Amino acid sequence: MIRLIRGFRDILPEHTGLWALVEGVARELLENFGFSEIRLPVLEHTELFARGIGADTDIVEKEMYTFTDRNGDLLTLRPEATAGVVRSYVEHGFCASAPVQKLYTMGPMFRRERPQRGRYRQFYQINAEVLGVQSPLADAQLLVLVHEFFSRLGVTDAAVHVNSLGCPNCRNPYKEELKSYLAAKSGRLCQNCLRRKETNPLRVLDCKSEQCAEAVAGAPSMTDWLCDACRDHFAAVLSAAESQGVALVLDPRLVRGLDYYTRTTFEVRTSALGAQNAVAGGGRYDGLVQLLGGPPRPGIGFAVGVDRLVEILAAQKGYPQKCPDVYFACLGDAAKKAGFSLAAGLARAGVAAEMDFDGAGLKGQMKRAGKSGARFVVILGEDELAGQKAQVRNLKTKEQTEQPMEGLVESLARRVKEEKDNG
Ligand code: AMP
Repeated sequence: MIRLIRGFRDILPEHTGLWALVEGVARELLENFGFSEIRLPVLEHTELFARGIGADTDIVEKEMYTFTDRNGDLLTLRPEATAGVVRSYVEHGFCASAPVQKLYTMGPMFRRERPQRGRYRQFYQINAEVLGVQSPLADAQLLVLVHEFFSRLGVTDAAVHVNSLGCPNCRNPYKEELKSYLAAKSGRLCQNCLRRKETNPLRVLDCKSEQCAEAVAGAPSMTDWLCDACRDHFAAVLSAAESQGVALVLDPRLVRGLDYYTRTTFEVRTSALGAQNAVAGGGRYDGLVQLLGGPPRPGIGFAVGVDRLVEILAAQKGYPQKCPDVYFACLGDAAKKAGFSLAAGLARAGVAAEMDFDGAGLKGQMKRAGKSGARFVVILGEDELAGQKAQVRNLKTKEQTEQPMEGLVESLARRVKEEKDNG
């Protein structure tokens, strides 16, 4: 038997209903908030991610699936979506022709991380990006959208953590201050952070190791160092989001390590996930469009981790069971043919209908009908065909009636609708 690759998994039919529900809610909300879908390839030139994510990040250093194509091109399976969205924005000339773009995309991302619960090597994200808008209302709108998304799905303990990373003007002096703070704590930092405190000191702030968390407990906060413009921007983001009932947790330890990340940064966390507690993350990247070869254009976006979100929802409410509305139990070839045609007619009329193709005995077929969770079972045998009638049994009430074959599709469709309307 050939098995799955480690860290990869199949999303099985009994689970895909919940995935589709999550994606459907996201799609509807994003469209209502004025976003348009963009679909991008999963394979890009490696250079895009090396530049767009940053060469000295874990993702680019250790986690990318990269290979040389037959023509010598160096290609990578996308580890995230933003770089691809920005590449497309620049490549199609939107920077000049229509610089304000609100885009979303959904699909698989690939990172060769150490697999564990909530962490896979192929995982799925829903991404939203706003390009060409500097206004704090764009940041606030994303926060409102994210908040609405989680509450609509019934995730009650999602906390939106938010911080501002300022701009290079105010962040550089802050970094120097942070470096000298960290220099005094050298003895208490992990190996990784001993290196990072020089190259990427912000990253030390969100190191997961306990000793580093203790060491940075009294570190200076970026928000105390914001320049006037960044402070005003952040205040406007918070007040606009809060005016819409979004509860925010101000979190000075929330950072992103790269220079093109600016101002607002946020993360949605839930207690339901254990170690991998982040279910969505986002922020401003005002330097990225330029870094990827475009003119200076601001941008902000977020990514929701669908695998983790589905896991939370499944733990809360289980996976919704998919049941046909009508199940056909047919005895004999002629009845099977009639059932086949009725089931197709119902499916065309928007009613989920299923039939037992091979079932021989009535007992076995009725058992399967019951197991399928169908509301109605239609029984067709020789007698029924001769009389042009069918037995229709309501599996909930156990009530069974005889119905003429003529107009059966319409009458069943009506009854299914009535049952659904009555819950
Ligand atoms: P990031 O692009 O790293 O900011 O991640 C955004 C979201 O994607 C996270 O909050 C997670 O929910 C999800 N995510 C990131 N990496 C993985 C992974 N390896 N497996 C599952 N979900 C992930």
